[in-house]
Amino acid sequence: MTKLEVLTTPSRTLRKKSQFLKAAEVKTERVRQLVADIRETISAGEYGVGMSAVQVGKPLAISVVMIRPTPNRPDLKPFNRTYFNAEVTDTEGDKTPMWEGCCSVVGDDDKPVYAQVPRYPKIQVKYLDENGDAREEWVDGFLAHVLQHEIDHLNGTLFTDLVDASAIISYDEYHALMKK
Ligand SMILES: [Zn+2]
Repeated sequence: MTKLEVLTTPSRTLRKKSQFLKAAEVKTERVRQLVADIRETISAGEYGVGMSAVQVGKPLAISVVMIRPTPNRPDLKPFNRTYFNAEVTDTEGDKTPMWEGCCSVVGDDDKPVYAQVPRYPKIQVKYLDENGDAREEWVDGFLAHVLQHEIDHLNGTLFTDLVDASAIISYDEYHALMKK
C-alpha cells in the first residue's frame, strides 16, 4: 500500500465531477489497489474518517469510509466500507449543523479548516459495494454525516461551499474549542 498525496484547495481537480464505475470495474486490481492506497492515506492522518478518490487526483466515484475513534471523537465505533457510485436517494428529518473538516480544505496555515455544516440526520444511500453489487439502505448518525460529505466530493462540492465564509474557523481555533 502506498500513501498518496492529498490535493488541497484551490486544486481544480477537487471541483471535477467524479465518474461512475461499471460494476465489473469495482473488482479490478487497479480499483482495489486505489482503495487500499486511500485507506493507507487516511490511516496516516490523525483525524480523517473518510476520503474520496478525487482527493488523491482520481475523479472516480469511490468513497472510502474509515470511521475510527479520533482525538476529538474518542467514542466512535470503528466502521470500514467503500462506497462506489454513492448517491443520496432520500432524506429524513431537518438538516442540523454538524462540525466538520476536510484534509483537502486548508487555511492560510496549510492546516484543515472547520465549520458547522447543515446535514440531514438520516439519508437513504444507493451505491455499489466492494463486490459490485447494487445496494440501497438508510443510514443515520455519524455515518450519515460522513457520507453526505463524501458524496459532495463526488459532485465537486466542498463543505466550505455550504456555509457562510464567516462561519469557517482555523485548525487551531477548532481544536481549542473542542478542548473546552
Ligand atoms: Zn473531505
